[in-house]
Amino acid sequence: MIYLDNAGTTKMFDECVEVGRKFSCENFFNPSALSVEALEISRLLNETEKFFLNKLGALQGNVIFTGCATESNNLAVRGSLRTGDWEYVFSAGEHPSVYNQAKKFELEGFKVHVVPLNEDGQIDLQKLQSVLNEKTRLISVIHVSNETGAVNDLHKICQIKKKICPKAIIHVDGVQSFMKIPFSLAGLDVDLYSFSGHKLHAPKGVAGLYVKNKSALKELFYGGGQQYGLRSGTENVAGIMQFKKAVELIDVRLNFDKVKLMKEKMICQLSKVNGVKIFDFAGSPYILNVVFDGVKGETMLHALNEKGVIVGLGSACSSKKAGNRVLENIGFDKDVIISSVRISFNAYQTLEEIEKACEIIEEVYKNIKERVS
Ligand code: PLP
Repeated sequence: MIYLDNAGTTKMFDECVEVGRKFSCENFFNPSALSVEALEISRLLNETEKFFLNKLGALQGNVIFTGCATESNNLAVRGSLRTGDWEYVFSAGEHPSVYNQAKKFELEGFKVHVVPLNEDGQIDLQKLQSVLNEKTRLISVIHVSNETGAVNDLHKICQIKKKICPKAIIHVDGVQSFMKIPFSLAGLDVDLYSFSGHKLHAPKGVAGLYVKNKSALKELFYGGGQQYGLRSGTENVAGIMQFKKAVELIDVRLNFDKVKLMKEKMICQLSKVNGVKIFDFAGSPYILNVVFDGVKGETMLHALNEKGVIVGLGSACSSKKAGNRVLENIGFDKDVIISSVRISFNAYQTLEEIEKACEIIEEVYKNIKERVS
């Protein structure tokens, strides 16, 4: 099997298995309990929080561990909501875990601005500028698009915010960027940053939210007051320690360069195939959109699956719905969207696998085209 849907999820590192066993079967204590063993777990969690802050390049603040980035995004966005005459700003390229909150805010009567994307798939900075004002409470923007790989310029967004609404909060959905593209929160005026374990070879069920200033957020659920009162509930200690292990094993720069070669190889091979169009948003090397003229993306996905190649159709959460909101916003025609497939890499596959996948993709596409014409 050649797995090319790594923006959907990744295979967990073998090294995380033992860590999970250790913190489930041996050091299984509740970090809120008072035994010496439990206090040791609490100390380890504090140390792990610092480890993640360091990996993010954050000079101050905290990390709240959550169950998934959907939860991190909800805590960030819904947790920033305040009564009063405030406005909330979202990019049109947000993942459903942010975008659907924007839609809900509207229904609840809050003033919401959804800023369109430019043809490069990034938030349109001029349009962003035009909706910001002193009433802006929150700007929520995706760092790397899960659909296209387009990268938003956080430095520019922070500059614009500082100029127009210095008190507004910036939330960044960093699920497709953390430990994938080289960046640091140092020097960036980002208040909240979401990230997820299962996109980085850690298990599903663990994620994080960086919080620069805890007083900017309100909790979503009530309980024992764990994690500074912002996320009550016993921490998923094993998952958090597995997440740390995975992050320790990743060399962002090395992986970035490896994956870049894979993407270049795929672009080079597939662009020679008649009817194949590549949409490379010159952003993250991890994600590529490929359009198969005259054949539905879904048909390609199933035919490739039969031949042992797994690809995606945009975000796993939206793939069951017709169309693609993000690609439509960039200005893609319906025909192009329907024929597109999302290919996403991980750094631990080989160039030979990519070459083989390209051969299979070409063969499958030619076979289907012959049948339909
Ligand atoms: N944000 C982005 C950009 C994503 O790609 C995803 C997952 O596809 C999520 C949020 C949701 O992450 P999780 O599966 O951890 O809830």
